[in-house]
This record gives sequence, structure tokens and C-alpha cells, in this order.
Amino acid sequence: MQKGTISVQTENIFPIIKKFLYSDHEIFLRELVSNAVDATTKLKTLSSKGEVKGDLGDLTIAVSVDKDNKTITISDKGIGMSEEEVKKYLNQVAFSSASEFLDKYKDEANIIGHFGLGFYSAFMVASKVEVVTKSYREDAPAVVWECEGDPSYGISDSDKTARGTDVILHIADDSAEFLEKDRIENLLRKYCRFLPVAIQFGTRKETVYEEAEGEEDAKSKEVEVDNIINNTNPIWKKQATELKDEDYKQFYEELYPYSQAPMFWIHLNIDYPFNLTGVLYFPKLGNSFEIQRNKIQLYSNQVYVTDDVKEIVPEFLTLLHGVIDSPDIPLNVSRSYLQSDSNVKKITSYITRKVADRLQELFKNNREEYEAKWNDLAVFVKYGMITDEKFFEKAEKFALFKNVDGKLATFEEYREMIKPLQTDKHDRTIFIYTNSPKDHDSLIKACKTKGYDVLVLDTIIDNHFIQQLEYKEEKISFIRVDAETVDQLVQKDEQTESVLGEKEQEKVKSLFEKVASDPGNQVVLKPLSPEDAPVSITRSEFMRRMKEMQALQGSGMDGFPDSVTVVVNTNHPLVAGKLLKAKGEEAKEDLARYLYRLALLNHNMLKGEELTEFIQKTIAMVK
Ligand code: ADP
Repeated sequence: MQKGTISVQTENIFPIIKKFLYSDHEIFLRELVSNAVDATTKLKTLSSKGEVKGDLGDLTIAVSVDKDNKTITISDKGIGMSEEEVKKYLNQVAFSSASEFLDKYKDEANIIGHFGLGFYSAFMVASKVEVVTKSYREDAPAVVWECEGDPSYGISDSDKTARGTDVILHIADDSAEFLEKDRIENLLRKYCRFLPVAIQFGTRKETVYEEAEGEEDAKSKEVEVDNIINNTNPIWKKQATELKDEDYKQFYEELYPYSQAPMFWIHLNIDYPFNLTGVLYFPKLGNSFEIQRNKIQLYSNQVYVTDDVKEIVPEFLTLLHGVIDSPDIPLNVSRSYLQSDSNVKKITSYITRKVADRLQELFKNNREEYEAKWNDLAVFVKYGMITDEKFFEKAEKFALFKNVDGKLATFEEYREMIKPLQTDKHDRTIFIYTNSPKDHDSLIKACKTKGYDVLVLDTIIDNHFIQQLEYKEEKISFIRVDAETVDQLVQKDEQTESVLGEKEQEKVKSLFEKVASDPGNQVVLKPLSPEDAPVSITRSEFMRRMKEMQALQGSGMDGFPDSVTVVVNTNHPLVAGKLLKAKGEEAKEDLARYLYRLALLNHNMLKGEELTEFIQKTIAMVK
């Protein structure tokens, strides 16, 4: 056996590799299987160029675990290596790239840890590695390279006759977990599920049915078949034109078994100025978006990298599902660097544009279908519009607004529709909305009587969405239906006269100030229409939104008192007539209190003792 030393200048880096390089030691398997795939792909390329003659035979890569002998073997039938190549690639290239990698990232606390170390990652789990290899070149004899996790190695002759490479890992005692078959199979399914060369891990039993002649029942029997881990030709590598809807749905099922079918999808395929393929699915989101995240898987040349793609796609797109495959995303760099990488930026805007274009296309070509899906798209589109400028510009044209009658319209369509009646004296168009049609029923009805339209904005991000629209669009405001009494929603100059004189107004005011004296209350008299409610409760739009925003961010709400305005309609017959005519101060207060509580009830704000009293009083009145 020849002996040698891997590198003269470098001190022993094996302990460093082992201890610290990847937090996940498991990736050794991905690295070694990727190498086997590369060696196989290279062979195919040589063959297609005519540099390797004849039939290549079966090229399946086999992974096996021998628990008794404490080894894991990865065998390929790829190009193999001659003795010279072993020395060059394993001793020099691989080793120096490993040490260079370590030098570079030693101080970096947050190594993303993808692809960089390759072959030498084997030493994270193995105390000894043997490489038995035979080159595709027939004149090159097979050799064995071995190394025991120190800079010295040995090379000797081998009697291997078949082309290809076996990498045999003698698993170290502290890595015995990797001798469990289940563990290895799970890792293969995680990292190698879509590699382009078949990966076999042992065999499995399969039931086959064969029809026996002349017999009624088909006979079933169990047979042993190769346990192939991967789908070598996943759909994102195919052309969209070769694929049917069924193929996309089937692939979705393969990625996320037992989940609801996706609504639609986008096939990504670009090779300039960067290379990226993939399929992104729009799941049915409904009103929620937290649970669905981290479902996009990132691949690099069909090797699984991560399902944490936050740095690569804009945040709102992480609501989508599917696969992105790009060899152009730098993987062995820190995450903060990734965000500023120009390729990543281009990729991000490409994906955003594609997603917007797909939605736009669906909206244009089949509005009916698009509207039917809107409920499941709304959160996604709105979230995108809030967080991404470019997306906002495109989505403005296909984001939909739903009114209380369930009618859907784009922003422009809706604005045009409400403009004639819902424009105030400053020429601002007022969008009236409710976040809960049930709770605001009487207020909505009051609006409708006056010919105003009410939108339903009830998703958890609508507050932010409204804010964004008010910021981006000119001359519009959103006001919740309980923010003002109907007449004030769209304030014009014309004011109705109060039927009450000054003195009487003062009397009404003091009565209500007395009975509605809860902290934060403010009593205001308004000469509204006699048809409007006698007393109503309004809340400042601004204060309410501030409070809700704070609540959403989880901070305390102490800073903002719960202030409401008690609006007394001085033109209502109960106020202008009955109240002032009631005999005695007590009777007046009773009626004022009753009207105030009625208003509270209407807003779902009447609770406890006051509610009980109110009900008793009502029963007594009906009697
Ligand atoms: P990388 O794969 O990034 O080039 P590695 O450290 O994983 O780096 O491997 C170094 C080199 O060793 C490879 O470039 C290749 O030439 C050679 N090599 C590794 N594994 C195999 C294999 N299974 N068959 C043939 N050559 C291999």
C-alpha cells in the first residue's frame, strides 16, 4: 500500500469538521449521494458525446446499511476514478475545498450549511472512509483509498471489476443512530426524493395480482421489489406543454399527501438571466394564513436544500406551496448575505411577477371562476399588496371588494359605483365597511336606506389593508359603519335644523350626560332625521384602529381609553317630544337611560346588571 499525507500545511481539520461544521450531521448522506449522482450524470454526458462506447447498463445508485459491521455503503455505476484522479480529487481538490470552506466560515455563527464541504462531510459520522473505485476507462485499474479521519491516507489495488464507485463509511460510535435503516430511509426520502438518477435502498414487499386462467378470483402474491426512493423526473423539470391538470394535482398529492387539492398553480421556467424551475401552487387559504407556511421546498438541481425559503421569496409568497429549483441561489453563505445577493433579488421579483401575472390572467380570462375562488385568495392577495410595492401595483387591478350583498367588484369599479352618493365635501370618496355584518345589522340597514353601500372587510389583515389603500390611493377614506351616524358618514354642507330650541337642547344634553356617564363617554346632540335612531353609539375610526393594531401586535392597550360618542338625535320624536314632556325629573332620567341602554344593546355593549335591569324594565313596559 502507498501511504501519503493529504495536506502538508494544514493541521488536522478533521476534529473541526466533526465537531462544528454542520449542526445537522445528517447531510453527509445528501453530499455523498449527490456525488454519486454527479458521477452518473457525467458518465451519461460522455456517452451521449460518444466518448464512452456501448450500453451503459443499469445506473441505479444503491445505498445500504450493515448494522453488524457498522457500515453504510453508497455505490454508483458512474464514471469512477483512476488512481491519479483519486489523488487529485479526493486528496487535493476535495480536501483543500473543505479546508478553504472551513477557513472562510469558521467565524460565521450562522453558516447556512448547504453544499460546500462535499465528500469530507463523511468524516462527521465516520471514523474511517474507504473509497473503492474503477474508472470508466478500461485501462485504469481499480483502487481503494482509505482514510481514518486524520491527514494520512492509503491507496492500494482493488479487485473491483465493475465501473463506478463504492464509498464505505465505517460509522463512528457516537453516530450509531445512522445505522438504523429507518433513519437512513427517512433521510433519503427527505434529501433525495427527486434526484435524477434512481436511488435504491434495499427491497420492499409488494402485492401483485395476477389473473389465473379460468378462475373467477384474481390471485394475489407478495413479491420482493427494489425499494426505489426517488421520482427521477419530477414535473417541474418537464415542459408545461407536456403536462395536464391531473399531473399537477397528482404531484401536489405526492408533495403533501392528504391535503386539500390546490386551486391552481404556476409553472416556473426560466434560464436567463438566472436558472430557475419550479411549480408553485395556490392552496385554499380561507381566512387564515398562519398554519400554512413553510411549504415551499427549495431544491438545487433536484437535491433538496430546505423548506425555509424566507430569504428567497417575499414573505407573502411563503403562503404558497410547491417547489423551487435553482442552482443559482448561493447556498453556502449566511442568510443576511442572501437577501442582498443580486441573483436572489432578481429571483424574488421574477417569482412575484409570475404570481401576479397568473392571477391577472385568471381574472381576465375567467372572471366567474376567479370570483368563485376569491374567498380563498383574498388573504394572500391582500397580504401581498400590503408587503410588496410591485405586487400592489399589479394586484390593484384584480383585488376584489365584497359588499354585504355578496357582490364583488375591483377597486376602480367599486369606487365608480359609490362615488355619486358617497363623496364628501372635500371630494373624498368614503368607503363604508363592516367587519361583522351580524353585529352591525341595524347600522347596515340604516346605510342602505340612504342608498349607501357597505363593504365586508373581515379578514384579520383588513385593518392593514385599509391603511395601505388609504396611503396609496388618492382621495379616499374607509370608515367602519359604527364610526359615525349615517348622515355624518358622507358629510355635505347642508345640515338639518334642530327642531329644539337652545334651552331644550341644553336640557337634553344634561339628561344624557347624567345617565350615560361611563368614563370615556362623550355626549353629542345631532339634528338627524326623525327616522334615524334616537340614540346611537359611535367610535372614532382612528382610535379604534389604533387599538386594534396594538392588540394585533400583542402590546397593551392601556394607552388608549375606550372612548365612545353617544349621539342623541334631537329630531327624533322620542327625544324632542316624549322625553321633554315626561312628568318629573325621575321620569325624564328613566326614559333617557332607557334610550341610552337601547343604543348600547344595539352595539352589543350592554352587559351585566345593566342588561338585567333593562330587560326587567322592558318586561314591565310590555305588561
Ligand atoms: P464537489 O462534489 O463539490 O466537487 P466533493 O468534495 O464532494 O466536491 O468531491 C470532490 C471530487 O471528488 C468531485 O468533484 C469528484 O471529482 C470526485 N468524486 C467524489 N465522489 C465521487 C464519485 N462517487 N464518483 C466519482 N468521482 C467522485
